[in-house]
Amino acid sequence: MSNPIRSITGTFDVLPDAYRVDDALIAGSAAWRHVEATVRDVMARYGAEEIRTPILEPTELIARGIGQLTDIVSKEMFAFERGDTNYVLRPELTAPVMRAYLQHRLDQRGGVQRLYYIGPCFRAERPQRGRYRQFHQFGVECIGAEAPQADVEVISMMIGVYRALGVSDMKLRLNTLGDAESRPRYRQALQAFLAPHAARLTETSRQRLETNPLRILDTKDPGERALLADAPKLVDFVDGASREHYDRVRNLLSAQGIAFEEDPFLVRGLDYYTRTSFELESPALGAQSALAGGGRYDLLALEVGGREAVPAVGFAAGMERLFLALDAAGIAMPAAERLDAYLVALGDEASEWATGTAARLREGGLRVATDLLSRSMKAQMREANRLSARYAVIVGSDEMAAREAMVRDMAGAEQERVPFDDLALRLRA
Ligand code: AMP
Repeated sequence: MSNPIRSITGTFDVLPDAYRVDDALIAGSAAWRHVEATVRDVMARYGAEEIRTPILEPTELIARGIGQLTDIVSKEMFAFERGDTNYVLRPELTAPVMRAYLQHRLDQRGGVQRLYYIGPCFRAERPQRGRYRQFHQFGVECIGAEAPQADVEVISMMIGVYRALGVSDMKLRLNTLGDAESRPRYRQALQAFLAPHAARLTETSRQRLETNPLRILDTKDPGERALLADAPKLVDFVDGASREHYDRVRNLLSAQGIAFEEDPFLVRGLDYYTRTSFELESPALGAQSALAGGGRYDLLALEVGGREAVPAVGFAAGMERLFLALDAAGIAMPAAERLDAYLVALGDEASEWATGTAARLREGGLRVATDLLSRSMKAQMREANRLSARYAVIVGSDEMAAREAMVRDMAGAEQERVPFDDLALRLRA
């Protein structure tokens, strides 16, 4: 009995046609190209430039950049060792982009670097709808600007992609984390508040109480949420300059007509954030509702070995979640590329003619396919249809003798005889 090897759970193939896994849409390759082209177009409107970093990074970069105590580093890294080097399949791109920025001294290009990316990321999470082990992110890192305008620009780029694709059902949540000192002070206050209630916490939260109490704020457990209602709020521990920054971000967003909700519990899973922190959700997506997230990370450069702090702000968005949102909103995606013509050849002589003619037409830039299986006229017409050919060019022995092809418009089904020499011209019409 044959037992074909299957792909790894939590990864998927992008095929020419869309398909569904556990009710989740896996978009076809043409839809991916369309969405990627939209991302590139929106990024270009802001003067952002593309950066491509390796999928393999040194483990140390991710461990230091994201933080040892985060779920990503402590539980979800695909990491391995070869010789004396430790490798990790990147779980995100913010730390890699900052590494590249420092390594190549991109600051010397002058001004602000707006670097965008699209590519695969890897996390060893429990796969479920909208949560995969290999997934794809697009995002931008805007490096070198401290001004609140940079935060707002990044949020506007993020939302711009969804808007350009027609997604409107979104909720933006916003918070400020303060400076490097605010967070430890808040952490202590939160620990002190929660410690007497430890018995009411879930097992996971009890562990986090010691290691990373801020993560408890993400809880979905109703009992914990009730308990947290009276917990100290991060915003009350934030320094004056960060508060002012936050005010300006809010005002600028309102002035641009970008709606947001303040969420004092939004701390995000990563360690390197300072000041602004945000998340974009789609209420239509159910359990995995986060479309994108980001914030300011002025301390990351220091964390990964830079000589000085570099102000930076960015967002990262999940491509698969974006497709789920498009699907939920009923937004149609382009199907595969259309052929200009399918050459339906009947008999050896016609088949030989079709091979040479197809080659010539392709050199002229047309998209042309021919039958390779000596199939019947009906089967070849079906193939022309499946490949969405605009025209079927039908040639049998009569047409070969007359040196004329029968050109059929696949939409209207009208057909006309066209001399071989005029074929290229006719197919362009
Ligand atoms: P994060 O870096 O965790 O904030 O992730 C940014 C975005 O990437 C999220 O808002 C999701 O849209 C997407 N994302 C993160 N992890 C996964 C995953 N395992 N599978 C699919 N999408 C993900």
